[in-house]
Formats: sequence, structure tokens, C-alpha cells
Amino acid sequence: MARATILLAEDEDSIRTMCFEALRGADYQVAVAANGTEAVETARSFAPDRLELLVTDLRMPDLDGLEVAREIRRLHPALGIVIITGYGSMDAAIEALKEGASEFVLKPFRSDEFLEAIARTLHKRRLERENARLRTLIPLFDLSRALMGPVDMETIPQYIVRIAQEEMRADSASLMLVDDQGKLSIHAAEGLPPEVILQTHQSIDEGIAGYVLAHRRPMILQGDKSSDPRFAYIARESEVRSAISLPLVYQDHALGVLNVSRREETPPFTEGDIEFLSVLATQAAIALENARLFQELQEAYRRLAELDHLKSEFISIASHELRAPLAVLLAYATLSEAEASGPLREHLEQVQDSAMQLKSIIDEMVSLRRIDTGEAQVRLINVHIAPIISGVLEELGPLASRGNLSVSVDVPEDIPAVRADEQVVRLILSSLVSNAIKYTPARGSVTVRARQDRDRVCVDVEDTGIGIPAEALERIFDRFYQVEDSLRREHGGIGLGLAIAREMAELIDAEISVTSELHKGSCFTLSLPVASED
Ligand code: ADP
Repeated sequence: MARATILLAEDEDSIRTMCFEALRGADYQVAVAANGTEAVETARSFAPDRLELLVTDLRMPDLDGLEVAREIRRLHPALGIVIITGYGSMDAAIEALKEGASEFVLKPFRSDEFLEAIARTLHKRRLERENARLRTLIPLFDLSRALMGPVDMETIPQYIVRIAQEEMRADSASLMLVDDQGKLSIHAAEGLPPEVILQTHQSIDEGIAGYVLAHRRPMILQGDKSSDPRFAYIARESEVRSAISLPLVYQDHALGVLNVSRREETPPFTEGDIEFLSVLATQAAIALENARLFQELQEAYRRLAELDHLKSEFISIASHELRAPLAVLLAYATLSEAEASGPLREHLEQVQDSAMQLKSIIDEMVSLRRIDTGEAQVRLINVHIAPIISGVLEELGPLASRGNLSVSVDVPEDIPAVRADEQVVRLILSSLVSNAIKYTPARGSVTVRARQDRDRVCVDVEDTGIGIPAEALERIFDRFYQVEDSLRREHGGIGLGLAIAREMAELIDAEISVTSELHKGSCFTLSLPVASED
């Protein structure tokens, strides 16, 4: 343990010498004063809060021991006090105990008695300091919990400043933050006049705050600051007697400075206060950084939501504007195809196919938008799948025959109804069957089969097509994923069909799975819950 620093004030030479020898013999660091005034002077030469113990005679010619103790305590608030007194001044000694002295020794005394009183007082003082440290843990704990809570760049600085002011019993507290231009300005303050807050906008290397930031360590200022040329500019705040400035640093990044100050009439800050405030500053820096990140995240999210809204609007308008002319195109192509013959008929078939492709792309974009905006509502009822399957095949049959594919259906008559949304089932099966047709070369086959598997009805859409590589089996359900490189694509489509099918399936408690063998074919299965009895 470090050697205790003791100031001995005694006007009687013999007692002073005896006490001094005893203290030095016990390895204490001792300063001596022959009267009260000298004692106060000597105490001032110590850094604040560094003097641990005052041993003082009660009766001295100039200042009495009590006054000396009072005066010195203003600079060294945690000072321990031992009073030396004679029988004649017992009342005054008792008074001294009431005022905070720990012990008194009655003249005449032996040096071992004297040293015991000193040791007891120092021990008590250390316990008190430990206690005080532990007590600060409670507000610090509350504080760290609270600072982790509100993640708002507006309230956090105010919160930090309020806690600093309350816990430090400061007359004023302020939080300065570094802005994008490298300037420091006050973001929150308690107990400061508004004009000071508004005027404080300084360069990062100016003044105390700049000094503290540059050196990355706290600074305590006591008494008259005008004597220190670095801080002369704050001398105008003459009523400030004691102040602490601490840098707020997060991962080597200087965020700002936390300041607290006390006026003339309040006791000055101590080293213990710096300790407490340093912990507060560390928590505050983390909280500020969290709040900043949160703000950035919110901003990014807001921009994303805006873009998403624009995208959604665009799809909505574009699909509406495209659908009407497309419907006209399809209607006339179908009509003309029925009336045409020879090569013209073939050309019109191609027009029809291309228009159908365009229509399915538009339908996919619209479905995607409905899923993303939450507009895709489902209505679960008991549904028979046989008519849905034949409807889908009727619609896509022409595409299959043009591709020279054979299509077969196998739906047992007694297949139970399913609990589903009819539109959704139609959309999913449409997507699976049109893919089977699209990805199966001429003379291949597509089979649609329904079967019951315990409490599920499964619809398999099987083809003898190009197949899917094993590593792509899950990814094909991702939005815009296509096995073929977009530059070398032979087949139309934008890679949304399966993603939409799976997302829609989730809405109705259905599942889509796939098995496939490259160059042999694929089998997609839609599994639906069997309808309940009612
Ligand atoms: P699109 O067909 O518009 O590209 P999908 O989401 O419907 O988009 O399918 C994603 C990808 O999965 C397709 O690009 C294709 O590579 C692959 N795929 C889907 N169905 C089959 C199938 N029956 N046979 C082979 N590959 C398929």
C-alpha cells in the first residue's frame, strides 16, 4: 500500500518533534506546520484530495485546530482528522468529533498511543473510501442499464448530462460532441445559461475540451484558472471553482467531451469524482455510439422503405398500363389465329406465345408486389383439386402441344378435398406446370399426379426435361435465381415463378419440394392439408 500522506500542525516544539519522529519512524510521509496559517498554506501545496490525514493541535495561537481542519477539508474533502488536545479543552475536542474528526489524543501521550490513533484513523478513512466507491457502483449500474435503453440521439445526451449533474452534485454539466466538420458544440447542458450553450461552437483543438480530446485523458481544474495560459479564456467564468472535463472515446474515435463544474460555495471535486465520471463517460460513449448506429440504421431503413414504396408504385402502374394493350394483343392474335392458315397461322401462334410470356411476367410482378405489401390475402376453404388441375392443363395445353410434349393426368376419383385458397393453388400449379413444359425438350412428357399421403394431398408435377443440378435445388426458390446464366438463356422468364409459388404456399400451410436428376427430369410436389370434416 502507498505511504499515507500526513500533515502535522502543532505549535509546541517538543510535541511536534516527538510526533514527527514517531510518524517518520512508522514510514509515513509527513509535512509539518508550526501554526494554523502555515498548515493551511502547506495543505494548498498538495494536489487536491492528495492529503490523507491532518494531525492538529486544537489550541494554536493564530487559527484553532477546528478552523484549520475546516479550511483544509475544502481542498481535500476525504481528509482524516486527528486532534491533539489537553484536558482543559475536552469540550472543544468533543465538538471536533461532532464536526468529523475521527480521533483525539490527550496530552501527555506516548508515541505508541499516538501511532495507534493514526493507524485507526487511516484504516477508517480507507474503509470509508472503499465504501464510497462501492456506493457509486449502484448509480453506475442503474446508469448503464438506462443508457442501454433509450437509443435516441436526441434524448441520450440530455440523459447523460442529467445523470452527471445529479451524481456529481455539480452546479452545471454539459456534453459537447464533435460534428462532421470537426467542430465541438454543446448538445445538452444542465445549469448553463442559454447564451453559453449557443455560443459554444469551437474548433476541435481549442480550449479545455480540445486539450482533453487531444490528450485523451480527464482533467480536473481547481481554483483560479487564469494562471494557466491554456485555460485563460475560461477565467471569465469566475464563479467556477472546480471542474472536470473528460473525453468520450469509443474504439479510439473521439466523440466529444463531458464537463461538470462546481461554484465557489460548494466543495471542489476529488480524484474519486474523476473515477466515477470516467466510468460514466465510458458508458456514455457506448450509448452515444449505439444511438448513432441506430440512427443510421433507421435512416437506411427509411430510404429503403421509400425505394420499396416507389418500386411497388412503379410495378403497380407499369403492370396496369401493360395489361390493357396486352389483352388486346392476345385477343386479336387468338382470333386471327383461328381464322388463319399456313405460315400465317404459325406466325400468329408465336405472337400468342410471346404475349402469354409477357402476361405471365406481369402476373408474377403483380403477385410479388401483393406478397410484399401484405395485400396477398388468402381465404381457406375446402377445395377440390381435380377441377383446378384440369383448368390449369386446359390453359397450358396449347403450349405443351406446340412443344410437342405429351401431357398425362392421374387424379384418383376418391382424392379428398384440401383446405386451401383456390386462387393460390391455381397459381402455384400453373407455375409448376408451365415450368415443366418450358424446361422439357420436344417429345418429352409432363405428368400431373395427385395422391394422398396421410393427412396431406400431394400433387406431383413430373417432367422428363433438362433436370436441375443438385446444388441449385434449394436456390431455385430464391427470387430471380435461374440455373442458366442470364446471357446464355434459352428459356423465357425472370426467375420469380418458384419464389412466388413458395411464398404463396406458406400463406396456406402448403409445401413445395423438388427432386431432380440432371438431363433426366424433375418432379415438383405441392403438398396440401386434407380438408377437415365439416
Ligand atoms: P423462371 O422459370 O422464370 O426462370 P422460376 O422461379 O419459375 O423462374 O424457376 C427458377 C429456375 O429454376 C429456372 O430458371 C430454372 O433454371 C429452374 N427450373 C424451374 N423449374 C424447372 C424444371 N421443371 N426443370 C428444370 N429446371 C427448372
